[in-house]
Amino acid sequence: MSEICTHILGYPRIGGQRELKKAVESYWKRELTALQLEEIEKKIKENNWKVQSEAGLSFVTVGDFANYDHVLDTSILLGNIPERFIDKNVEINLNTVFCMARGQAPLYKSTRACEMTKWFNTNYHYIVPEFIQGQEFKISLNSLFDQIEHANSLGYKTKPVLIGPLTYLWLGKSIDKDFNKLDLLEKLTQAYNEIFKQLSLKNIEWIQLDEPILSLEISEEWKNAFATTYKNLSFKNLKILLTTYFSSVEENLDLINKLPIHGLHVDLCSAPQQLKTILKTFSKDKILSLGIINGRNIWKADILKITNELQEAKKIFGQNLWLASSCSLLHSPVDLEQEFKLDGEIKNWLAFAKQKVGEIKLCADNLNNNLSDIGKIKLKEVNEALKDRRVSKRVHSEEVKKRISQISLNDSERESKYSERALKQREILKLPLFPTTTIGSFPQTQDIRSIRQKLKSGKIDLETYTQEIRNHILESITKQEALNIDVLVHGEAERNDMVEYFGELLEGFVFTSHGWVQSYGSRCVKPPIIFGDVCRPKPMTTEWAKYSQSLTKRPVKGMLTGPVTILSWSFVRDDQPAQETALQIAFALRDEVNDLENAGIKIIQIDEPAFREALPLKKSEWQEYLNWAVNCFRVSASGVKDSTQIHTHMCYSEFNDIIKSIADLDADVITIECSRSNMELLEAFENYSYPNEIGPGVYDIHSPRIPEKSDIKNLLENALKYIPADRLWINPDCGLKTRNWPEVEIALKNMTEAAKDLRKKY
Ligand code: GLN
Ligand code: ZN
Repeated sequence: MSEICTHILGYPRIGGQRELKKAVESYWKRELTALQLEEIEKKIKENNWKVQSEAGLSFVTVGDFANYDHVLDTSILLGNIPERFIDKNVEINLNTVFCMARGQAPLYKSTRACEMTKWFNTNYHYIVPEFIQGQEFKISLNSLFDQIEHANSLGYKTKPVLIGPLTYLWLGKSIDKDFNKLDLLEKLTQAYNEIFKQLSLKNIEWIQLDEPILSLEISEEWKNAFATTYKNLSFKNLKILLTTYFSSVEENLDLINKLPIHGLHVDLCSAPQQLKTILKTFSKDKILSLGIINGRNIWKADILKITNELQEAKKIFGQNLWLASSCSLLHSPVDLEQEFKLDGEIKNWLAFAKQKVGEIKLCADNLNNNLSDIGKIKLKEVNEALKDRRVSKRVHSEEVKKRISQISLNDSERESKYSERALKQREILKLPLFPTTTIGSFPQTQDIRSIRQKLKSGKIDLETYTQEIRNHILESITKQEALNIDVLVHGEAERNDMVEYFGELLEGFVFTSHGWVQSYGSRCVKPPIIFGDVCRPKPMTTEWAKYSQSLTKRPVKGMLTGPVTILSWSFVRDDQPAQETALQIAFALRDEVNDLENAGIKIIQIDEPAFREALPLKKSEWQEYLNWAVNCFRVSASGVKDSTQIHTHMCYSEFNDIIKSIADLDADVITIECSRSNMELLEAFENYSYPNEIGPGVYDIHSPRIPEKSDIKNLLENALKYIPADRLWINPDCGLKTRNWPEVEIALKNMTEAAKDLRKKY
């Protein structure tokens, strides 16, 4: 029997040792020439193709490489370069790309960068295309054709990937006046046809056209636009594999079934249930590519289980069935073989991008009943690893499971309702009107980083480390007192990252040394891996909190990261629902909250910056998420007395459509990022008659600009239109760790003085 066709939707481009990050950053600093950068990129691409080819995939995927972002490269390919980046004297080049991303580039003008936003519900961020009315598209400098030629010259059978026209349009925003982006489709279609024309000359059979918006709930208008556009696209001799991912396409199948495409890819990892409908309705004369290896997680796949589930698809589609990664492997770390320090048992349960490529092939061979001898051994090893993971004592804790199973309604209820709690808190805290506070972190100076580094590498002992961090806490408390801030923080000098810090202190987490995933441009993150039941072996923050509180009469906030955020910024278990893992984290945090209270801490903040971004892609699934997310927060916060004040913090979010859930969190105080919206975000709170206290940020911490007292007062006067004076707090937008002390001190001084002025008036 001939082989089953196998492929991936894309490969990580950062390189196994983050070579791309280092090279690009050196180039920006002009320590590397464009040619040298190109050389490094060439090696990464060649290596990526080699991995796919050596594993025996049917194609190598090309066009997935980008030195900053693939959406940005699509804009460049389409000649969609906003006027402000065009320098009459310099032709469009690599620096144009970097300038669009960052507002500056070597030997290029400086201007306002394009916006950046999250790629669907992942942690990857793309550069938002800008559209103007009457926008023209013109195929320009592009790395796509270069990549194809490069791969072809090495003898690979290539499958280029391109973002589809509708998704490209959907990702961008119209910047001048209100016009309908869809008006641009005609011209955009022409541009795509030009690309197809050029591609058709390149000895290519298949094109992967990514249209992930087909897994969203799109409007009739967009559905119609899909139908019309695809009718007008002229693919020449090329075959089109329409790729979707991150959710189910069931709602849009009627539309998809009518499109003149040659194949469809669907993500069975995020939405396995859709297979049934697809098998029933999708034409078996077309290619059906099934995404069976998860591109967004790090667990070894259960090859046997997958092949069993594919039997029906194989029967129906036969040679027209392809196997693939669920989405691009961009969202996975690169290579597990680089992990020399990782616990051996746990390492054996994992697969990163390179290993996932092998898994796809193994699945295909197994489904085809033509496993080689080595394949048979590999399959046996996989089964053993999976069995080991299923029964491992390190994964399953009776105690944790018992506690979760005994959860009662009481666990998520404070003793009294907010209005009663507020009275008791007021009596104890004795805060002035418009209390001032900050969000948690203070500048992470080189000195602070080096102290943590030295502890890690064993250059200093724990005692020295503790003393050094204490000195920093003392310094920050002293400064806050001098600034006359009402509710203090310890400054988070001991924390590298708000999730990693807690992950390291909780059981059930492991950390990799090279498990980096691209977040945006040259920025990568290394999410912790939650492999087992989560519990807290001992208090995590109480010693620091006690010490900080001992230094001052003013209240110092206990500072924790919330369950939803810890969950969303980690790789999660696939052997139990995410909400169960979140609940375990919530109980661990609950113990910490209670311990902080017992240690004399009167205000405890539980940060949930990921609360909104963790919403599912489809609105129809929101409520289920919100229910458990709210419940987890409440479980962590509800073990304390009425008089203990619970704060939460969220970064920039739209609150309109989730305001009921925000109120249901029942935090006594919520601080939010607000300054850039000129307090308009507060409208949602007013409309809902949000009952508790709010601290809308009055200082944009992302910008080096120092806010004047008058700016802050203006913002506060605005805020008072929405929030009554006795429930308004005054604070910056977010933590101050990326800023420096001199600017922070002036800004906070202006903030406390604005508060003083306001108190006189109200
Ligand atoms: N407490 C954290 C800090 O101040 C909050 C960070 C965040 O919201 N992302 O750094
Ligand atoms: Zn924040």
